This record gives sequence, C-alpha cells and structure tokens, in this order.
Amino acid sequence: MAKSSFYISLYNWYDANKRILPWRETNDPYLIWISEIILQQTRVAQGLSYYHNFIHHFPNISSLAHATKEQVLNCWQGLGYYSRARNLHKAAQLLKDHFPTTFDQIRALPGIGEYTAGAIMSFAFNMPYPAIDGNVYRVLARLYDSEVIFDTYSGKKHFHQLANQLMDRENPRLFNSAIMEFGALYCTPLSPECSTCPIQNHCLAYAHNTVELLPLRKKKNALKDRYLNYIIYLCKSDSTYLTLIHQRNDNDIWKHLWEFPMVESMDSLLDIQTIENRLLSTSFISEHHILAQRDFKHILSHQRLHARFIIQSVSSLPSIEHCKTISIDELSNYPLSRLNEKAVEFLYTFL
Ligand code: SF4
Repeated sequence: MAKSSFYISLYNWYDANKRILPWRETNDPYLIWISEIILQQTRVAQGLSYYHNFIHHFPNISSLAHATKEQVLNCWQGLGYYSRARNLHKAAQLLKDHFPTTFDQIRALPGIGEYTAGAIMSFAFNMPYPAIDGNVYRVLARLYDSEVIFDTYSGKKHFHQLANQLMDRENPRLFNSAIMEFGALYCTPLSPECSTCPIQNHCLAYAHNTVELLPLRKKKNALKDRYLNYIIYLCKSDSTYLTLIHQRNDNDIWKHLWEFPMVESMDSLLDIQTIENRLLSTSFISEHHILAQRDFKHILSHQRLHARFIIQSVSSLPSIEHCKTISIDELSNYPLSRLNEKAVEFLYTFL
C-alpha cells in the first residue's frame, strides 16, 4: 500500500469530519485513561455525560485514589461492567498521584489491556503503539481483505501486526485517532458508502467485493438465562417510606452494588409466596399487600436476566439477613445495578 497517499486521504477526511470530543483536546494520560475505560462499554454520545460527571468528581488520580468505593461506583452507575470502575479505583490507589509513561508500566495496571495501553501511549505521549478497538479491526480487515477471525488470540496478534505495519510513525496520535473515527463514522458494519470512500483505492475488500463479509468473528455462545425475583418492601414512616436493600458481595455480576432483597430461581420467575418462603427465615407477621409487580428482561454480555420486582406495602419491615433499612429518598446514595435502577424508576411512577 502507498502509505503516504493513504495518510493524506485519511487525515483529510478526519479533519473535515471528526467529532470534537474533550478527551481529544487533551494530552493528560489520566483523562484519556478515564475516557477509554468509559468508552469500552458505551457509545460516545452516552459516554460523554459519564465522562464529564466522573471528571467533575475525580479530576485527577489523587482524588480518585482517595474516593471511597461507593463514591466511584455511584459515578459509574448505569454504565455496567462495574469491575472496570473497581479496577480504575484500584489502579489510582496504586499510582497515588503520578501516571506512568511507558507501555509496560501502563499495561501492568489493573484493568488495562493491550488496547487501552496503546491508546494512552499514542494519545497522551504520541508514541507509535496501535490502539485497535472494534472499529479499527473492521477497517483493517477490509483494507487488507483479511479473513482472519479477529476475536481470538492469534487473530488479535495478526491484526496487531497489520496495524503496526500501517502505523504512521511520525504522527501516531493523529493516525490512531483518524482510523478509529473513520471506522466509527464511515466504514460502518452495514452498508458503508464505499463508492465515495476517500480511501477506496487502498481497500482490498472493496476491490474483491467482500466488504459486507468482513470482519470475521467467532460464533457467539448462547446467553445463559437467569431468573431473579425481587421484593421491594415499602413501610410508611412519617413523610417517606422505608425499604430494605443489601450489598452483593459474591463473585458474581454487580459485585459491591446494592439491590433489593432477591432470590434466584432455576427456570422461571416465582410468585410472592414462594419468594418470601425462601427469603424470610422466620414467618413474617405484618399487614401487607402487593402494590404493583413488573417483569423486566435485562441483557448482559453473557447472561439474559429475567427479573420480577414485586412492590409490597407492609406495616413493618421483615428482618432479612444482610439487609439494611433505608428510606427510599436515600436510594440515590447507593450504587445500584441498571436493572435495580429501572425498578426504582418504576417505583417512582406511582408513589
Ligand atoms: S471502501 Fe468501503 S470497506 Fe473499504 S475502507 Fe472504504 S468504506 Fe471501508
């Protein structure tokens, strides 16, 4: 490939079409790190508000290192993949106030993989390390008409070599930014505008008519179904309601987040009686009635959650192991999973 004419076409396109994003306007490795971790799990439009909020609360490594786990998780609430927030926090505590400057030191931090280390090295320090996200895999697969499956160990190695080969060593920051943006906005998964593409004459997939087939990925494993049955207890107290929540501490999804009392069932959702029989160790004597019930489906990367939330009004709260009593006005102080957040939104629709 004639690299210099490829760079000129790509950079001209980038100049004319790039989005103005705060993490592109800075060389601060801390800010770039935060943006990269947030963008691993969300689209730019949604990620922007999380980024601003996170940076507002933790403007530098030291403020993040000194935050509590709950404060960090609260800022992450709704983004999912909470282990990423826990790793950010852990890494900040290791670093205290100084961000490392070599690839190996950055790569060794909790939660930082090859991609993120490459992105920080190129965006913050302008060093020629590839940063291959999903968009870049697609562009590379098409440019080189590569039939290598990209989401395997050997596939990643192969694409890493291609990216290294194509890298503009004089302008690594610009090169990585431009190719990522091109994949995100132009060379999209479905029906890219190949006929007017500015780098079309460098694209082997276009020449071979294989664009729609690439990139190749592994077949996905079927999602595992899980059935979660929640009760939201509401006990009137002065001008508010008291409820029960508990913190998830097992090595499972949503570790350290809070949720309403829950029992998990095998292959279907349960009725209130069965849930309470399993949830309460002693019989629970209180005036009670069901105010509302709603079922939700919630998809995680490897799991499909079927959840039932039953809102139960009671004259006194039952005692449930590991649960704490709070007023519903305090719910916002506790990091919740997105699923429990949806249940809170539902709760407020009729309170
Ligand atoms: S010609 Fe089509 S497939 Fe090739 S780089 Fe351009 S948009 Fe992507």
